[in-house]
Amino acid sequence: MKKIFIGVLLLIAIFLALKNQSTFSPETVKSEPVIPTVHENSRETIYSEIKGSIKKGETFFNIFKKYKLDISELFQIREAAADVHGLRELHPGQQYKITVDNNEKVNSLEYRINDDAVLNITRTGSGFYARKIPIPYEKKILHIGRVIKDNLISSFGEGRENLILALELSDIFAWDIDLSTDIRNNDTVKIVVEGLYLDGAFKKYGDIQSVEFTNNGQVYKAHRFVNNGIAGYYNDNGNSFKKAFLKAPLNFRRISSYYSKSRFHPILKSYRSHHGLDYSAPTGTPVSAIGDGKIVFRGNKGGYGRLIVIRHPNGYETYYGHLARISKDVHNGTRVNQGQVIGYVGQSGLATGPHLHYEVRINHKSVNPLALKMPSGESIPDSLMAEFRSFRNQMDTELASIRTPDFTFARKMNGTSSNKL
Ligand SMILES: [Zn+2]
Repeated sequence: MKKIFIGVLLLIAIFLALKNQSTFSPETVKSEPVIPTVHENSRETIYSEIKGSIKKGETFFNIFKKYKLDISELFQIREAAADVHGLRELHPGQQYKITVDNNEKVNSLEYRINDDAVLNITRTGSGFYARKIPIPYEKKILHIGRVIKDNLISSFGEGRENLILALELSDIFAWDIDLSTDIRNNDTVKIVVEGLYLDGAFKKYGDIQSVEFTNNGQVYKAHRFVNNGIAGYYNDNGNSFKKAFLKAPLNFRRISSYYSKSRFHPILKSYRSHHGLDYSAPTGTPVSAIGDGKIVFRGNKGGYGRLIVIRHPNGYETYYGHLARISKDVHNGTRVNQGQVIGYVGQSGLATGPHLHYEVRINHKSVNPLALKMPSGESIPDSLMAEFRSFRNQMDTELASIRTPDFTFARKMNGTSSNKL
């Protein structure tokens, strides 16, 4: 603790010396030598900072001991933080900062919870006060254009943020496009997205505002709009992209995170079969429930091998066959949600290689899953249509200005202060 204190004094002295050098002529310096008395008012407090990032297995108890800080203060801090963010929930690599006064009392403690918020605990008259502070990103609007080569993820380029952007995109279109099998070379994507910056440096993407995806010659457009307090994506006519059934039982995001460790993205194929669709996919690929429903069969059934059957509203049933295994929490009668992982691709039953057999039945009759006409999703209410149209028109203009291939452009957001999140 002493070392830090001396270090701070030294820094202040150097700073004052440099400051004097630049503002006073050499003669004045001679007659008025700089003495490092930092504050004339003796009651004024000097703070020093302890900064670092959490090491694996490290706790604030360790940190307080290391810097010889008062453990009883840590207990007060922990109590103050309990309702905001537990002080024991630490992630290695996250930054912290503790300010300490010249009596070695903790004045404040900050811990970066995640990309969006900092836990801030400050001394008050009676103890400590904790709150979560949003990180004050500066928002810019980014225009991005890409041409798809090979697959969606590699077309967005390297890095975590690009991966996340591609996955967000896959979520928006999860009801209309099977991004693991429907993607074609030379498909194009144009995106209007928020970019979040700290100190002028790009940190991450915010919300996708609007996207135009041209898939196999067909144009899909989605605009982000808040309806009834819930943000969703709507087409040009104000219909939600959300539908009763997803486009495919192999969810692009699930597959991508499943295979992210191997840096290899499986190329899946789907083909029409006897009375359903077969998706050839590596063993272990997660299989998702296509829509909300109830499990009415799980187990072995002849040529299907390990099979799950889900009953959905309006007489629909979906079949998932040849599974390697079934998720532990999936039992007869279990309610499952759209997108939930129910099992994993395998080759149980009559199968020559690992693939998912997927079948849709309406009132017990098989239908072609690809020909299913899903009613369009919920619509924006009339009362908000004018607002939606004006946003859509602005987005259409922005989308039209984006060129492909490989185009990125940032502009400041209108009327948004840098502190606004
Ligand atoms: Zn089949």
